[in-house]
Amino acid sequence: MSAQTALAPTFDVEKIRADFPTLAREVNGKPLVYLDSAATSQKPHAVIDRMTKFYSEEYSTVRRSIHLLSAKATQAYEGTRRLVAKLLNAPETRQIIFTKGTTEGINLVAHGFGRKFVGEGDEIVVSATEHHANIVPWQMLCNEKGAKLRVIPVNDAGELILEEYEKLLNERTKIVAVGHVSNAIGTIHPVKEMIALAHAKGIRFLVDGAQAAPHMNVDVQDLDCDFYVFSGHKACGPTGIGILYGKVDILEAMDPFLGGGDMIESVTFEKTTYAPIPHKFEAGTPAIADVIGLGTAIEYLQGIGLENIAAWEHELLEYGTKVLSEIPGVKIIGTAKHKAAIISFTIEGIHPHDIGTLLDNEGVAVRAGHHCAQPVMARYGVPATARASFAFYNTKAEIDALGQAIRKTIEVFA
Ligand code: PMP
Repeated sequence: MSAQTALAPTFDVEKIRADFPTLAREVNGKPLVYLDSAATSQKPHAVIDRMTKFYSEEYSTVRRSIHLLSAKATQAYEGTRRLVAKLLNAPETRQIIFTKGTTEGINLVAHGFGRKFVGEGDEIVVSATEHHANIVPWQMLCNEKGAKLRVIPVNDAGELILEEYEKLLNERTKIVAVGHVSNAIGTIHPVKEMIALAHAKGIRFLVDGAQAAPHMNVDVQDLDCDFYVFSGHKACGPTGIGILYGKVDILEAMDPFLGGGDMIESVTFEKTTYAPIPHKFEAGTPAIADVIGLGTAIEYLQGIGLENIAAWEHELLEYGTKVLSEIPGVKIIGTAKHKAAIISFTIEGIHPHDIGTLLDNEGVAVRAGHHCAQPVMARYGVPATARASFAFYNTKAEIDALGQAIRKTIEVFA
């Protein structure tokens, strides 16, 4: 597990929990223990209230109209773009593109970059730990273009084998696309080092930050990635909104993904010219309230401090790993040295779906399944796992509840 910065003495998890209405509810007659934040995070009052206020008092469209409400909505909407640029330390605000989520961000790059710059015989490199969102769009592109998808292997702990990665990079490689953190097994991949290796050969690099941006400080200039994508709903924001960051030169060179209103400069039946970035990639009426809600979510996370979030989640990971390791029959899948607060596990003789159901009876919400990462499940010879994923609003007492619920599950099947 990676070393983390110290937790600020002002960090108060009980105070934070009070910001999240869902965390106070019961499930199946037991207090909810929500350990599924890698799938989606809970929402604080601040975000819910901001979106309600927008819909009830300020609602209007953005960009198209000059009336007061529209001007104010546009201001709030563009305010989020500035907040995201600051969050990621992007050099310029126009490098931030609003998408529907990580999935759309990757598809946008696969279309806008891939269709233009990838040809027959070219290669695209992904890793063995990727989410389907960072496999399937590239595979579709390869099928269309006659290109080849190549895969960086992992060792038994879930760490990418960098010597093999280096061997995969060649003059045919057009882009590398790797998750910053694996959603299925929690590995934090050494993307900065991997990006430098790709750039040494003139190869572009996309980072899927869905599991990283909400949990740690991300600096796109320090990483030097060409693209970085994440989803708002995993970062205390609403669903339906995501971010694509890109370097200016490549965003400008790329073709648009979707055509329509707001992404054009001029249209005739003979020819259309496109708006400058970021609008070139934002066709149609956007998810206005969701963008504004995401802005509030970012302010909320920054109020707690991403370094505090990372430090507390790391404590939870260490505690959770200890609690689960002490239970006979439990096997943790993914034991990388650098890990985020995600613990995938199996229990001898019990199907993960049964684990999920029995834990739910105890009020403990975990995910059970292949986590949209079937190749990584295949790599470890399991069809599925149960996965407990922690956020800064979780407590050690909740991990104890998970441990007790697992012991009870094992007794049921004994
Ligand atoms: N990549 C990773 C690593 C993820 O964890 C997820 C969501 N589970 C995605 C991509 C897809 O994100 P979304 O469904 O929000 O588009």
